[in-house]
Amino acid sequence: MTQPEPDLVLAGAAAALAAAPAVSARLLEVHVEGPDGRCAGCHSAVRLAPRWPCRLAACAMLATAQRLGRPG
Ligand SMILES: [Zn+2]
Repeated sequence: MTQPEPDLVLAGAAAALAAAPAVSARLLEVHVEGPDGRCAGCHSAVRLAPRWPCRLAACAMLATAQRLGRPG
């Protein structure tokens, strides 16, 4: 079995999130850009937070865009 393309994973996760607007809204509340340009919502004891938008923020933004762009 081959690994799916990262963008396909992101798109799939966004599609799932689009059905749960409260979840993506919450993600966008937590995963905001910090003063250092990194995600304030991603914490790790062993490495720096990723640059914002992190994967979760990007996913939630994509989900919101998909939901708003979809009639009904
Ligand atoms: Zn994050």
